[in-house]
Amino acid sequence: MPSQITHLECMLCRTTYSHREPMRLCLNDAKPLYARYNLQEAAKSLIPSALPGRAANMWRYEEVMPVENPGSVITLGEGYTPLFLADRLGDALGMESLYIKDEGVNPTGSFKARGLSAAVSMAHQLGQTKLTMPSAGNAAGAMSAYAAKAGMEAHVFMPEDAPQANQIECVAYGASLNLVKGFITDAGKLSAEAAERDGLFDVSTLREPYRVEGKKTMGYEIVEQLGFQVPDVIIYPTGGGTGIVGIWKAMDEMQELGWIGTERPRMICVQAEGCAPIVTAFHNGDEFAEPFPDPHTLAAGMRVPAAVGDFLVLRAVRESGGTAVTVTDPEMVDSVRKMATLEGIFPAPEGGATLSALEQLIVSGQVSRDDRVVLLNTGSALKYLDVLGPALAQIIPRT
Ligand SMILES: *Cc1c(COP(=O)(O)O)cnc(C)c1O
Repeated sequence: MPSQITHLECMLCRTTYSHREPMRLCLNDAKPLYARYNLQEAAKSLIPSALPGRAANMWRYEEVMPVENPGSVITLGEGYTPLFLADRLGDALGMESLYIKDEGVNPTGSFKARGLSAAVSMAHQLGQTKLTMPSAGNAAGAMSAYAAKAGMEAHVFMPEDAPQANQIECVAYGASLNLVKGFITDAGKLSAEAAERDGLFDVSTLREPYRVEGKKTMGYEIVEQLGFQVPDVIIYPTGGGTGIVGIWKAMDEMQELGWIGTERPRMICVQAEGCAPIVTAFHNGDEFAEPFPDPHTLAAGMRVPAAVGDFLVLRAVRESGGTAVTVTDPEMVDSVRKMATLEGIFPAPEGGATLSALEQLIVSGQVSRDDRVVLLNTGSALKYLDVLGPALAQIIPRT
C-alpha cells in the first residue's frame, strides 16, 4: 500500500477525521479538510532518484496521493504536463527565466483533470457511485469524463452562460446536464439539494478533501522539472483557489520530504476585474472574502464570487510574500494572442490572465526581470472558442 495517508484535518479548527469515511467539510465549522500523510515514511521511497522510472502522470507521487486501493485509481493520464522555457515571450519582456506550465494538454483540456481524477478515485474507493457538482465549466467536463471511466453516474449543475464546449462534453461523457439561470453559487445550491434528495456525492471544489490532492501535484511537478529548485514566483489564475492552495500545500510536504528547504515561491493570485473577491480581501487585510457582487468575466474558471477556501488562498499569498492583482477581460484576450503568437501555446483566458498580471507586476516593480517566474496556463483555448472567437475576431483577416 504505497499511499502514506493517515487522516484528514480541518484547516481552520484542526479537528481530525478518518479518511476511510466519505467526508466533505469539517462538521464543526464547515471549512475544508486536508489529507495528511506520514511524510517520514513517504520520504523513504519518494526520493528524487526514484522518479525517472515512474508513470508520466500525477500518480508518480503515489506515496503522497490519497488512494490506498490501487484498483481505485481512475486515470486518463492527467498531469506530468510540460514546463516550457518561454524564451520568445521572455525576450519580449526582457526576462531570462520565464516558464509556462501548460495544463492545456491534460485530459479534457484543463488542469481540472488532476482534481477530478483524485476525487473520483477516492469516491470509487469509498464505494460512491453517483456524483454531482456545480461548475462554471471545466470541472464538470472533467468530472463527467472520470465518472465515465469509473462507470459512475454524473450530475452537473452549470450556469447557462458556461462555455459551449463544457456543456457539450458533459453530454458526450454521458452526464446528466442541468443548465441553471444564475451564477455558480446558484448552481451550487441546486447541486446540494439534488445531493440531499437523491443520495448523490457532491464533489464541489474544497467541499471534499481530494481535489486539492490532485491539484497539489502541479507543485511537485514544477519543483521536479526545475531540478528540485523552487521558482521565485508562481502566477496563478484564481477561481475557487484549489490550485494555488494545493501548490502551497505541496511546498510544505516537499520540505518535510527533504526535497527543498524553507525557500518558497511568491504566490501571485490573479482574478478578473469583474470577479475579484480574494483580491479585494487581500488588499483590505481580511481573513475571509466577502461574496463579490454581480460577477462577470469571460474566463469562466475565475467566475467564482465566493469560495469556501478563501482564507487558505489569502494565507498562502500572505505567507509566501506574494500579492493579488486583477486584470481586465481585454487584457486577458490580448495575452492569449501574445502567448499563442510567441510560444505556440493557445491558452485559456485564465492562462492569458497570468501573463497580463506578470506585465503589470514588472511595471509596478513587484516582479523583477531577473526572477524565475512560472505562469500557470490552466487550460486550452480550444474549450473557449465561442467566447474567444468574437473577442479575437478583429485580428482574423477578411477577404
Ligand atoms: C477552474 C479553473 C481555474 C480556477 O481554478 P481554481 O483552482 O478553482 O482557482 C482557472 N483556470 C481554468 C481554465 C479553470 O478551469
